[in-house]
Amino acid sequence: DKLPALDTLVANTAYLKAQQVDLNELRKQRLTLTLPNPKKSSSLQADVGKNFESLCEQQPIGRKLFQQFLLSSNPQYVAATEFLEELNNWSFAEDEIRETSKQTILTKFCQPEARSFLSYLTGEDAEKCKDLSDKNFDDVTMGQIREATRNFLKGKPFSEYLKSPFFYRFLQFKEYEKQKIDDKYFYEFRTLGRGGFGEVCAVQVKHTGQMYACKKLNKARLKKKGGERLALLEKQVLEKVNSLFIVNLAYAFANRTHLCLVMDLMNGGDLKFHIYELGARGIRMERVVYYAAQITTGILHLHSMDIVYRDMKPENVLLDGKGQCRLSDLGLAVELPKGKMICQKAGTTGYMAPEILKQEYYRTSVDWWALGCSIYEMVAARLPFKDFREKVHNEEVTRRTLEDDCKFEHNSFDAPTKDIISHFLKRKVELRLGCRGGDPRSHAFFKSINFYRLEAGLAEPPWVPKPNVVYAKDMDKFMHTSKVQDIALDDKDEKFFREFSTGAVSIQWQKEMIDSGLFDQLNDSKLNGHASETVWK
Ligand code: ADP
Ligand code: MG
Ligand code: MG
Repeated sequence: DKLPALDTLVANTAYLKAQQVDLNELRKQRLTLTLPNPKKSSSLQADVGKNFESLCEQQPIGRKLFQQFLLSSNPQYVAATEFLEELNNWSFAEDEIRETSKQTILTKFCQPEARSFLSYLTGEDAEKCKDLSDKNFDDVTMGQIREATRNFLKGKPFSEYLKSPFFYRFLQFKEYEKQKIDDKYFYEFRTLGRGGFGEVCAVQVKHTGQMYACKKLNKARLKKKGGERLALLEKQVLEKVNSLFIVNLAYAFANRTHLCLVMDLMNGGDLKFHIYELGARGIRMERVVYYAAQITTGILHLHSMDIVYRDMKPENVLLDGKGQCRLSDLGLAVELPKGKMICQKAGTTGYMAPEILKQEYYRTSVDWWALGCSIYEMVAARLPFKDFREKVHNEEVTRRTLEDDCKFEHNSFDAPTKDIISHFLKRKVELRLGCRGGDPRSHAFFKSINFYRLEAGLAEPPWVPKPNVVYAKDMDKFMHTSKVQDIALDDKDEKFFREFSTGAVSIQWQKEMIDSGLFDQLNDSKLNGHASETVWK
């Protein structure tokens, strides 16, 4: 192997070193940070709303503070909190741990004489709880008791929380979350990739040490090529989805020259790189099944929000440091109008479904076709209708896609793999897997996958990237793009840039605060007594 050029070597070293965050050092550096006070007159109150799910379940800091409130209140609230926690353990655990967890629930929460008995349950739910035993302990019953517990918490406990210092503390964090984000908020590291409107580089948040990827879109180039609306669309789709299998957006901001999308750092490289660039052509079957399972879950998540991805291909699937993958580059994704079809041609040659090529109307079916092509490519290191690096006209690929049979010549194809690909590559949409009813996850191809654990991020990756390797091309391999000239930005552009620059994305930002320990550090001061007079009206 040829050594990378010196600048790449230096950049790699800085980038790899940044990922070894010293949390104690960070703690010291941020001792001077304090939480802002919420401005009463601001729109903050209206912003946060009164929705229980959003405030106490979805937002990570909200969830933590609500739990802290419950644990500091009466024994009944404590029991409810601990019960939900244990129930979560039980539902995601396997084997012995699951059995232990079940016994804990039975003795701790279901015996009327126990200290943590769920005494808030009434009627049928109370009877169910008292009658629980080894024999009737199942998902359905436990789901009902979980719902009853949530309903209890939504009532009096929630309204008490809204008047408590814990909620005031939440508002302080919300005020902090609204801070203006600019370049100074991050350290910047090497370029990881290049896209149509600028480069993607690694960045690190100064206060938390959190690493991200920053996709920079050149303002002048966006305007010149008419990409402004698309950039805003990409940002809006990214901030809407919150999935383990789709790259999440953490910040959107602008500087003088660029719009910036700050996303999960995927430092394990893309699947195209893994198929073609790492010696052996193709990917081992166990990995193919695992990645396909995560991709399928990601696609289903998008479809459940009526979003069609339209750019499913291995190049757009990125691996993180643990070896889990996510869909990225949502630049072609669109939200489908309710109950309507679209017919715009979009996608990449070799992955486009017949209905797109024939310019017919479609909805989400095109993603399943492209997934079929991608599974094929992971196994065979070529596409069903296009050989690797084959010089061929788009018209010929279109012809083959519409007329030829998909051949399985590579000897890694086993029966379930051939079967799932054939069903994703059905030309008739109504026969295609994913479109004809039924769930693609139940296909025999996925028999080794426990989707329940996979969706909780608990399924062990079959391959883990090496921590001392940078899975990106050397820096001199990125073509330098020419300067954009003769583009003047006007008021309309500025207005659009402001619409783009919404700063921190709640859920991601709150996760970052918790994971880096900054939440605990700022929340450390005693809550009881402090600010308890303050009632938020
Ligand atoms: P474009 O829409 O212009 O094609 P992409 O979103 O595909 O831009 O990003 C360009 C390249 O940057 C990708 O091919 C990949 O190599 C790299 N990249 C993009 N997002 C990330 C990320 N979250 N983590 C690491 N690298 C990334
Ligand atoms: Mg791309
Ligand atoms: Mg794109």
